[in-house]
Amino acid sequence: MKNIPEKRSESGGLRGPAARDDECAERETLMMELTRLVQESVRASSWWERRGVDCSILTAAFISLPAGFVLLGSSQMMYFLLGLLVMGVAHAVITVKGTHLASHGALSESPAWAHFWAVFFIEVCGSFSARAGVQAHVKMHHAHTNVIGLGDSSTWKMPFLPRSVYLFIAPLAIPIITPVVAVGQLKGQSPLQIMRTVVCVCVGFFSQYYLLRCVSGLSCSSALLVMLLCRAMFSLPYIHVNIFQHIGLSMFSAASRPKRIYQMTHGVLNLPRNPVLDWTFGHSLISCHVEHHLFPFLSDNMCLKVKPIVSQFLKEKKLPYQEDGYASRLRLFFHRYQELMVFAPPITDLVGVQ
Ligand SMILES: [Zn+2]
Repeated sequence: MKNIPEKRSESGGLRGPAARDDECAERETLMMELTRLVQESVRASSWWERRGVDCSILTAAFISLPAGFVLLGSSQMMYFLLGLLVMGVAHAVITVKGTHLASHGALSESPAWAHFWAVFFIEVCGSFSARAGVQAHVKMHHAHTNVIGLGDSSTWKMPFLPRSVYLFIAPLAIPIITPVVAVGQLKGQSPLQIMRTVVCVCVGFFSQYYLLRCVSGLSCSSALLVMLLCRAMFSLPYIHVNIFQHIGLSMFSAASRPKRIYQMTHGVLNLPRNPVLDWTFGHSLISCHVEHHLFPFLSDNMCLKVKPIVSQFLKEKKLPYQEDGYASRLRLFFHRYQELMVFAPPITDLVGVQ
């Protein structure tokens, strides 16, 4: 892995408060400087670049669904498997890329439409509570990235599972776990919100079931099995990507968190581009995760566009720009599973940037 972050800044704890204030101001200026460069790039971009490309990919996923339902009704194995693939890929595009962009309000400039898309993608398509999803992802994970106990990607930590089960078998249960967890997340929400979530999740689930029965002509058990297979098709890389990009990197305590630019450059990692995952999960979850954590309001296409600006800036300013391969991270997790998933990770002490 390149650019392993230093455990301690060069200024360390040896300088006085005035020097630390200067360094703090400098870090603040760095983030402002980078934000200005990124904003210039956004302003110079067309609507197509800012939202059009990603909206078109999501639209294409919905347009492919009728073909998927028809193919799943075929008695020929090849066509049936193609239908399964079409529906699995479309489901991943809609429920991973779509829900992620919708949770950040990146699909529309209008707050009302952004809210509508968040409910549609997260609740109808993703079978989860939009309020709980935004709270967990945007308000906790993004706001408190790698802060222990707040945004440490701890939701998929199950240290009681053997490493092979944790990495390769347990993720397959995500389609069943998601609505169960969603029910638990309803606690504390208003009766109106609970009713909306229950109705939306049921509409999404039963419309897919109904179409598999009526259009594809599948039996009750076959329709449920196809739904499980489609929904679980990308759950392994989904969980892998989720843990690979944060766990094992610098962790911070809530009491002494560093400035934002330091927090994100030390606690986030980019994976290489991958044709399948770029389309299904989106660039912001794969090769532009650092950019996404620095500028979460950007669409996938804009994250990719500002990537050279961000990487060059961070390298020039001697800040980490962490990148590693999928197989390399998988090896790391497999070999250091106990250390990374069972014991509390060490807190990175970035003294001088508080
Ligand atoms: Zn995000």
